[in-house]
Amino acid sequence: MPSHRLPKNWCNTNMKIKKGDLVKITTGKDAGKSGKVIKVDSRAGKIVVEGLNIFKKHARPRTQNEKGQIVDVPRPMSTSNVSIVCPSCHKPTRIGMKIDGTKKERVCKKCKATI
Ligand SMILES: [Zn+2]
Repeated sequence: MPSHRLPKNWCNTNMKIKKGDLVKITTGKDAGKSGKVIKVDSRAGKIVVEGLNIFKKHARPRTQNEKGQIVDVPRPMSTSNVSIVCPSCHKPTRIGMKIDGTKKERVCKKCKATI
């Protein structure tokens, strides 16, 4: 009986990052900073991290009494620019996948803890 093999690209979307995860930025102006993922766009492969990759949006006054203001808006960034911080060993790590029955679990490649 041939062993059941998963297709090579079965997890190729690379969306191992979930909302609420702590990630560390590896490239760009916020490199080295870390923050919590507040939004995941799996189709675009992008995430929004709380307080990071901020750009200042100049909001124009809509009425004459309103003042124009600058709003901080976190911009989505590519998941390839971040690495996940393991909640168990607190190090930036890569995520491996473990199949436990029918369930896919994320594991830290460093300490092997389930994330
Ligand atoms: Zn770990």
